[in-house]
Amino acid sequence: DPRLERISSAIRVIPDFPKPGILFQDITTLLLDPKAFKDTIDLFVERYRDQNINVVAGVEARGFIFGPPIALAIGAKFVPMRKPNKLPGICFLLNGYVLIIFTGEVISEEYSLEYGTDKIEMHVGAVQPGERALVIDDLIATGGTLDAAIKLLERVGVHVVECACLIELPELKVIGPAKQVDLLGLMGIK
Ligand code: IMP
Repeated sequence: DPRLERISSAIRVIPDFPKPGILFQDITTLLLDPKAFKDTIDLFVERYRDQNINVVAGVEARGFIFGPPIALAIGAKFVPMRKPNKLPGICFLLNGYVLIIFTGEVISEEYSLEYGTDKIEMHVGAVQPGERALVIDDLIATGGTLDAAIKLLERVGVHVVECACLIELPELKVIGPAKQVDLLGLMGIK
């Protein structure tokens, strides 16, 4: 598909960001090219529009850029999967532990980073058991983030149809979440 080459070349690669030795894939330059940005959304929409998907779950932060236009185009709701303590919920502090209950109930899933751990969170009431979800992020490196996103959705009875991202860094992959697809990897680009 000729669109993939254009998308790939619109993504800027920045060496030594955010730390020395890391080659950062910067999708902000793709957003500056309306044709490449639209092609990106169109490719995902073409893949997912006939799969009865009711939920597009976008992982903070760049899943919030690509997720909503895909959700609108395929007639699905958009559910943000956020970094810890961003989603509003009733929150009680108990002996130093945070216990979140009832209104705006949030569930979280921890995952490993290169050093330490991180978490993503979702509002429980945003999805219903039996719904079909697509998870969107910009990039998969180790796979830990998408793996946590799948676990969160499956914990509340949602069926994850696929996880989609633009870029895969195969050399960093350790987990390899089930059902993952990367747009540029489909064509062996990047
Ligand atoms: P993983 O959990 O190791 O697969 O890392 C994926 C997460 O890290 C995604 O949310 C990405 O947005 C972010 N990430 C890691 N490396 C890069 C990069 O080079 N460019 C943009 N995002 C990155």
